[in-house]
Amino acid sequence: RISSSRFSTATSLPPTYEKLFTRYTDVRRVLGKQRLTLAEKILYSHLDNVEESLLNNTDGGRSIRGKANLLLKPDRVNMQDASAQMALLQFMSCNLERPAIPASIHCDHLIVGSKGAEDDLSAGISANKEIFDFLESAARKYGMDFWPPGAGIIHQTVLENYALPGLMMLGTDSHSPNAGGLCTVTIGVGGADAVEALVGAPWELKAPKVLGVQLTGKLNDWVAPKDVILKLAGELTVRGGTGSIIEYFGPGVDTLSATGMATICNMGAEVGATTSIFPYTEASARYLQSTRRSQAVENIKALQSFPGSGTSEDARFQFKADEGAEYDQLITINLSELEPHVNGPFTPDLATPLSKFKDVVKDQQWPEKLSAGLIGSCTNSSYEDMTRVESLLKEAADAGLKPAADFYITPGSEQIRATLERDGTLETFEAAGGVVLSNACGPCIGQWQRQDGVTKGTSNAILTSYNRNFRGRNDGNPETMNFLASPEIVTAMAFAGSTTFNPMTDSIKTPSGKDFKFSPPHGLEGPTTPFESGVASLGVLSQQPDPSVQVAISPSSDRLAFLEPFAPFPESDLSGLRVLVKVTGKCTTDTISAAGPWLKYKGHLPNISTNTLNTAVNAETGEVNAAYDLDGSRHTIPELGQRWKDRGQDWLVVAEHNYGEGSAREHAALQPRYLGARVVLTKSFARIHETNLKKQGVVPLTFADEADYDKISAGDEVSTVGLYEMLRNKGKGEVQLKVKKASGEEILIPTKHAVSKDQAGFILAGSALNLLSKGV
Ligand code: SF4
Repeated sequence: RISSSRFSTATSLPPTYEKLFTRYTDVRRVLGKQRLTLAEKILYSHLDNVEESLLNNTDGGRSIRGKANLLLKPDRVNMQDASAQMALLQFMSCNLERPAIPASIHCDHLIVGSKGAEDDLSAGISANKEIFDFLESAARKYGMDFWPPGAGIIHQTVLENYALPGLMMLGTDSHSPNAGGLCTVTIGVGGADAVEALVGAPWELKAPKVLGVQLTGKLNDWVAPKDVILKLAGELTVRGGTGSIIEYFGPGVDTLSATGMATICNMGAEVGATTSIFPYTEASARYLQSTRRSQAVENIKALQSFPGSGTSEDARFQFKADEGAEYDQLITINLSELEPHVNGPFTPDLATPLSKFKDVVKDQQWPEKLSAGLIGSCTNSSYEDMTRVESLLKEAADAGLKPAADFYITPGSEQIRATLERDGTLETFEAAGGVVLSNACGPCIGQWQRQDGVTKGTSNAILTSYNRNFRGRNDGNPETMNFLASPEIVTAMAFAGSTTFNPMTDSIKTPSGKDFKFSPPHGLEGPTTPFESGVASLGVLSQQPDPSVQVAISPSSDRLAFLEPFAPFPESDLSGLRVLVKVTGKCTTDTISAAGPWLKYKGHLPNISTNTLNTAVNAETGEVNAAYDLDGSRHTIPELGQRWKDRGQDWLVVAEHNYGEGSAREHAALQPRYLGARVVLTKSFARIHETNLKKQGVVPLTFADEADYDKISAGDEVSTVGLYEMLRNKGKGEVQLKVKKASGEEILIPTKHAVSKDQAGFILAGSALNLLSKGV
């Protein structure tokens, strides 16, 4: 092996790119002439140890994808206010003075959209004051950037300020890949993963496959970048991108704006992709310039022309795939043939071309009346989106028309809002009767108080330019049919007040009885002068860490509570555990830690733990959320867990297949651990949840013989045999459970485990954080 230092020749590059180039040189040397996709270039250049990872994992580099476990060092972490709470509480328990990499906090999810920006923002701030105070004080203490409520939605703010071609970022939100529109690898993660990066530990990812999407042609008048991903969602379905990075390439890419590319990457989350990425183009450079980052453009030029120590073209870092790079799957979309799409209801992959939508609405007997059109959000509030909409509004206003459905606009950031205000676009929206909501998530995340009298249970249709449309997502009403489309189509349909309206072919009657047909929308890619910064109080608070700051958590708060580190594993096997409950059937992360109203308590582990397993089915009685103490008294499952915690009785849960399926929700591992779970014994686990349990110090075991599920009962006393030895041997060795029945009979249950060397360390330390905070 060759020492990388011999090749570290990047000293004449700007500091931003010096590290990237040095690592990339290592990647090139290890992988030789292998053609790399753009995603691979950036991802592998962020490996903690390029040589070790790639040499150990590759036979000539071919077997990396889908197989190797990559240990990565991201450049920064971005957090939204809901998920940041537990991430910061965990980070605080590490007792570090500052994060190892830059981080930012964005207050966007907690503001309810209702009457308009001003009223909604002040109501949101007073309702969530203690959360915002906590986040701001933590930001001050640790030197993280703090974007206050009203500053904007995380992904728009990140695109405008932090995204930079070649970076690798983590975001505690599933739509973080939005920044792939500016040629970054940005991955959505849970709070515990974010904390790993914040403490400087390498972050582990199964090397993704690369799904190539070749774009040819050029979008027609009524077609928007949003339609690319709406169509793709229909082809791939909600699971089609799982385990893959979607990488766009081809001549069609050069016809798209940077914000259009971001919209497409944003919704890669809807097909389950790890992330999505576009190459760096002239449009990317224009966007960097208009967002006051001209120096970045110069730096990119310097990097792309820097020859390093090599003489071949290969030695240069180019923000595009190598000629001839191979994709695991290839899809081609001809933009010239694409038509607008409407996706939904209730799932983003139910894609219908606009020309067929009218017939589908009638066939399916979906509501023909459109109740509301909502545009903007992190997905579609760019200058281009908004000025294209503006062109429709102006034309309709000239014809004497107003939207027939309620019409809401959510700017993605204060910067875009202020620029639209300066350029007169907001005035056009308001003149049309549109309600401009605050720069926050609002109706996109269920924070919407509808003003139109549509009550829960009433069937109705809405159209949004957002990214998700699960049942009840926007207004909590399971009967609201929520369709997704581009902002232009949403707007045109809002004028017609009808889901069967096709603005490309249909007309609307004006008040004077004439037929009005929209001209195709047109707008500007970006403002002609750079973006406005907006109201100063909505700008970022950015400062060096100040250890003297006390993080604001009131001892009487019911929404926030300091986290105590979990105790280390005892220096022996576990004995005297009791089975708290034996669960039957599906047990998802929602079953273990319900969402909905419980989201309010995300920062308060004791309070949110009162929902633990509260929809689980007791295998022995068939009851939901029922468990029995040793004296026969009946309790809810979390009540019994708390009772046993209070008397120092550690416990285990027994369950069936795919325990913990659904999401990466870390609370589903934290809560049982907090209440005293030491082991979870199942027929099988969902992979991510199994990892999360180990990160929180809980031992996941599976039955070696599934039939043994029938031999163990609630209340049984359980001791482990070989567990401590296995952990000390870094995951090597067998574990059995000695089970003592109420009758006094003792049985031995053999189990299986998937504890790796690192994970054995987590469990012994009590949690991954306990270990990482020691700098191990
Ligand atoms: Fe998530 Fe919607 Fe907020 Fe975007 S606007 S970050 S999709 S909740």
